[in-house]
Amino acid sequence: MHEMSLVEAVFESLLPLCADNGWKRVEKVTLKIGTLRQVIPEALLFCFETAAAGTPLEGAMLDIQEVPIRQKCRHCGLEWGGEIPLGRCTACGSTEVDTISGVELDIESLEVAVDDDEKS
Ligand SMILES: [Zn+2]
Repeated sequence: MHEMSLVEAVFESLLPLCADNGWKRVEKVTLKIGTLRQVIPEALLFCFETAAAGTPLEGAMLDIQEVPIRQKCRHCGLEWGGEIPLGRCTACGSTEVDTISGVELDIESLEVAVDDDEKS
C-alpha cells in the first residue's frame, strides 16, 4: 500500500525524535502532504494507527494538511496553481516547468504530552 510506505517514512523520522527527547506520548501529528502524492487520507489514517500501535505515537491524532500543486515555468517565470495544465506553461507553452509545491511530505508540527509524573 502506497500510504504505508509514507507512514513508514514519517515514523522513521518521528521515532528517533521521541527516543532522543524522552517523549513517551505524542498527542497530535500534523503532516503536510502535497496533492501530487495522491494520498487517500482515510488510508493514511488507517496505516498511521496500525504503525503507531505500541509506540509513543499510539493514540495520536493525525492532522493532514494538503498542499496544492504549484508550478513554475523556467522559461518565462510564470507561476500557477492547480493541476491543469500539468507540465506546460499557460503563458508561453514551454514544457520546462518545475513543480514548486505539491510533492511535500513534511512533519509540520507535533504536540507532545507532558510527562505523566508532572501532572497533578
Ligand atoms: Zn512560460
